[in-house]
Amino acid sequence: MFLMRTIPWISTEITTVGWEKPEITIISVYDNYRIDPDLETAWGFGCLINTSRDLILFDTGGDSEILLSNMEKIGIDPKLVNIVVISHIHGDHVGGLEGFLDVNNNVTVFVPQSFPQYIKDMIIEKGARFVEVSEPMKITEFAYTTGELYGPPEEQSLIIDSRKGLVIITGCAHPGIVNIVKKAKEEMGRDEVYLVVGGFHHPPLTVVEEFREIGVLKVAPSHCSGDSVREAFAEEYKEDFIEYGVGKIIVIEN
Ligand SMILES: [Zn+2]
Ligand SMILES: [Zn+2]
Repeated sequence: MFLMRTIPWISTEITTVGWEKPEITIISVYDNYRIDPDLETAWGFGCLINTSRDLILFDTGGDSEILLSNMEKIGIDPKLVNIVVISHIHGDHVGGLEGFLDVNNNVTVFVPQSFPQYIKDMIIEKGARFVEVSEPMKITEFAYTTGELYGPPEEQSLIIDSRKGLVIITGCAHPGIVNIVKKAKEEMGRDEVYLVVGGFHHPPLTVVEEFREIGVLKVAPSHCSGDSVREAFAEEYKEDFIEYGVGKIIVIEN
């Protein structure tokens, strides 16, 4: 059923979508939290974003074997991925990249400009293309990066411009999850954010109130957010809290 929906992703008929914002699907393929009991958990983060035009892999987790086996169990051919975005240098986000490129090198990898040369060389050696990111930029239709924000380390987050509003996806949020959301709103010129997904880097519990103040409508904290932060968000956001972990599929409809 899922594959039936996903096969047209790469087909030419989607070019008729034109200016219209498509349905967006986010699929967790790597996380230390679990939704689908058939999938393997491991410390790290990785998700797929289907924008109908592109299939983006945002972070690769730490281990390509786990990443690829989870993708296989979900029923996604890794060769359908055409864009990879790596948030930051930590092994639990970039560790699966090399093994992924062994299976599919027909991708453009967006890496922070501050990445060490050996990673850039590895991407070229594998036969893939890479783009160095420092400033905020458009990655592809409907997808943007915040550019490098300082943690440490330097980290980029992904912004998807969906019909329901902005969706922000973070790896570890070392620059601060609230700072990232503010930066994304500023860059995109929006007052509200539809959804924030990813690692929130165990912020203080006041983050819940701050998220309300900065206009975040839905949240899916995962990876390094911390159990207490997830619980606090669940309590405040109620049905707008999305329990997220490997195997979770979020569909943002038109
Ligand atoms: Zn991490
Ligand atoms: Zn990290």
